[in-house]
Amino acid sequence: MAARPGLIVLDRDGVLNRLLPNPAEPRPDSPMRPSQVSVFDWVPAVLRELTDAGFGLAIASNQPAWAKGKTTRADLDAAHAEVLRLATADGGVILSSHVCYHRAEDGCACRKPAVGLLEEAFARHARFDRAASWMVGDRAPDVLAGAAFGLQTALLAEADSPELSDLEARGVRPSFHGRDLRDFARFLLRR
Ligand SMILES: [Mg+2]
Repeated sequence: MAARPGLIVLDRDGVLNRLLPNPAEPRPDSPMRPSQVSVFDWVPAVLRELTDAGFGLAIASNQPAWAKGKTTRADLDAAHAEVLRLATADGGVILSSHVCYHRAEDGCACRKPAVGLLEEAFARHARFDRAASWMVGDRAPDVLAGAAFGLQTALLAEADSPELSDLEARGVRPSFHGRDLRDFARFLLRR
């Protein structure tokens, strides 16, 4: 590991917790209340391992459901708190969460693939070496934000994922590609 540790900025939905099938829309939904939160089984142990290895962990997440009128801000925030509670149950430490509540059409500076959430995270945690830091996500906007901010990037998706071809079409290749956070941690902790 580098002399100064890296910060691993994690996308939330599809990385830490499952998405909810929504046949009415092209994409699955994010959990909008605590009872809908289901964290992948391996996440608590992986977050503890990364924490023990000296990495800082933060979350950068787009959460437009409240702005879209699909839930209340209180329920949305309670769902996030539930993700944090479950994901850190083995002793992993998430230093901070950076959340964009806007919709795509709001034209904000924080919604990924914009870099506002990453700016916020690194302003708060300036001790981390950006060259040793990562943006980890399951969709192209996560990788685009990380790459635009000069981070190493990890895409967690199946090999035939449209997210990969989307990135390819934009000339961006993630630094790492694996199926889930277990694959990423194995790769990171072994090198
Ligand atoms: Mg995601």
